[in-house]
Amino acid sequence: MAVSALPSLRSLPSVDRLLRNPDIAVLIEKHGRAEATQAVRETLKELREAMRSGKDIDDGVIAASVLSRVEARASPRLKALFNLTGTVLHTNLGRAILAEEAIEAATSAMRHAVSLEFDLASGKRGERDDHVRSLVCELTGAEDATLVNNNAAAVLLVLNTLAQGKDAIVSRGELIEIGGAFRMPEIMARAGAQLREVGTTNRTHARDYVEAIGPQTGLLLKVHTSNYRIEGFTAEVGARELSTIAHRHDIPLVNDLGSGTLVDLSRFGLTKEPTVREAVEEGADLVTFSGDKLLGGPQAGFIVGRKDLIAAINRNPMKRALRVDKLRLAACEATLKLYRDPERLAQRLPTMRFLSRSVEDIRDQAERLAPVVACHLGSRVTVETVPCRSQIGSGALPLDTIPSFGLSLQPRGGGRAVEELSAAFRALPWPVIGRVTEGALVFDLRCLENEELFGQALSSLRLGNAS
Ligand SMILES: *Cc1c(COP(=O)(O)O)cnc(C)c1O
Repeated sequence: MAVSALPSLRSLPSVDRLLRNPDIAVLIEKHGRAEATQAVRETLKELREAMRSGKDIDDGVIAASVLSRVEARASPRLKALFNLTGTVLHTNLGRAILAEEAIEAATSAMRHAVSLEFDLASGKRGERDDHVRSLVCELTGAEDATLVNNNAAAVLLVLNTLAQGKDAIVSRGELIEIGGAFRMPEIMARAGAQLREVGTTNRTHARDYVEAIGPQTGLLLKVHTSNYRIEGFTAEVGARELSTIAHRHDIPLVNDLGSGTLVDLSRFGLTKEPTVREAVEEGADLVTFSGDKLLGGPQAGFIVGRKDLIAAINRNPMKRALRVDKLRLAACEATLKLYRDPERLAQRLPTMRFLSRSVEDIRDQAERLAPVVACHLGSRVTVETVPCRSQIGSGALPLDTIPSFGLSLQPRGGGRAVEELSAAFRALPWPVIGRVTEGALVFDLRCLENEELFGQALSSLRLGNAS
């Protein structure tokens, strides 16, 4: 068997000969000799197997195969894509898209040495928080502020600093899990704090907190129940009342806001979320919130509040392990600056721009794009414009949806065909991610801005039997 295959195997070109092939020479120029050589070897190995089954192969075929191998390895795994899921802040798709100002600031910080921990006025060592501290205080009314890797880190650091070896009192109605492995009780355990649950799932009263307070209490924690809501026969103790209780016993109140917006969202026609400024005014000693949720910046966690407590946090050795890098610091500063001009926020900050788009505007876009999408899909997929509902995502206003518009792609052949269609869009060089509902692939257009790029992306669409 092996003997009869030998003559044709010999006719495969050598690695050296292929590396001199003009097409592959171009590849070497672009990606380097090592990548090209590896791809040539892998391709030859595969072809040797193919030839055993009697396939005919010339150098052109080999070069094309080498090319696609090298290109596939060179293309980024972390791909830019179109988020047409209707969830504006999609954690799995990277949450907030940054403002141009933030992108420029981060790019400059990547390209140059920066005054990260250097005070230009005195020529002495500075602190990285200095670049955002006064801005954050100005925007939230807090006395002091610090910045860490994300809000999970902010909560961890606060608990560890104020309640290590002590009790952290939380209502049973607020012991949340936020996707992944962020569960309040587990974070507490890792922070070295003892969870002291009070009240019940649906009702917690002031006396529940008061009865739990003792010499072992480190802090009172209020957690914004970001991703769910308890309705019906419920009672919770508001932050203002909690702060009175906490301060009467000389214990700090920490309010984990989660998304924590800096502006009143009702100005964009959305339901009001508590703002950071309000949480500070209500008497929380520390407030924590995310940088890449409603704030619309890079991944980061803000801790704002009392100066002495922030100082204690900054002395905690864990702070060093959780600090932010210069790129995100630069992007945070630039993002926060946009909040000084609230009138133009809805234009300049993509998160606000998406959230404040009118349904009429999105409907016009759907009508414009329906024929464009249809012409790439052939006659076996029906494309219709449909009303749909977007959501903010990342735990902000979980039950509120915003009227939107989109395209519904319905292939003939039901469930499997929809899955195949959805897979074809995911396989694009610029993948398009929609939402599969009731036998259709739906693209919510709320977050689609670059129609030209979208049109180009579709031109690579390869549909199997759906075409
Ligand atoms: C999202 C959220 C967190 C975690 O924030 P990350 O920025 O994802 O680390 C913590 N607490 C609440 C209430 C949240 O909503």
